[in-house]
Amino acid sequence: QKFEELNLSQEVLNAISDMGFEKLSAIQAQAIPHLMNGEDVIGQAQTGTGKTAAFGIPIIERVDSSLNEVQSIVLCPTRELCIQVSEEIAKLAKYKENLRVLPIYGGQSIDRQLRALKKGVQIVIGTPGRVIDHIRRRTLKIDNIKMFVLDEADEMFDMGFREDIELIIGNTSDERQSLFFSATMDREIMNFAKKYQKNPQVIKV
Ligand code: AMP
Repeated sequence: QKFEELNLSQEVLNAISDMGFEKLSAIQAQAIPHLMNGEDVIGQAQTGTGKTAAFGIPIIERVDSSLNEVQSIVLCPTRELCIQVSEEIAKLAKYKENLRVLPIYGGQSIDRQLRALKKGVQIVIGTPGRVIDHIRRRTLKIDNIKMFVLDEADEMFDMGFREDIELIIGNTSDERQSLFFSATMDREIMNFAKKYQKNPQVIKV
């Protein structure tokens, strides 16, 4: 399936073409239509399957770049993944004027993140600890976000981030769309999905 067959904006189609993507990967073909519809998705996918674009494209299309507020947050287990996801989403969003993507992770200067948050960003990609830090400082407001994403959920649970993730979800609205991606679909992640998602589409690639 080609990206032109999806209902995507010309800006995103042009970015996809610049990146050299021609056909949708399996996870993209299964997830993007549901995500564009506002549905919850739990997806089993390894790195290398194109999962970042599978959630990145719908995020870019669903946030309103004329609003200067955080509308989507993606949680990642590590700083490296945070940077990688943020770069991929920024590339996909490069023709969307006024759309800003910000990685926030531990180890980076808080001041730099504060300045960027103050300017206004619509999409935040963060590690759980630093996200909580900003929520506590009231420098990051996520109570109105439309889309909440866990990338490598199993990895984050293994690293002991479950409570942090629950605290962060507790700061969002029940109206949110929730996207969980994980390399495995064990009992823990399925129970988590039951607790926090609404009729999720279950996708495996
Ligand atoms: P990911 O699984 O998100 O880490 O993506 C793995 C790599 O595949 C990244 O370098 C992406 O830029 C690339 N990629 C994602 N989607 C596609 C696609 N539809 N066609 C070709 N490459 C892709």
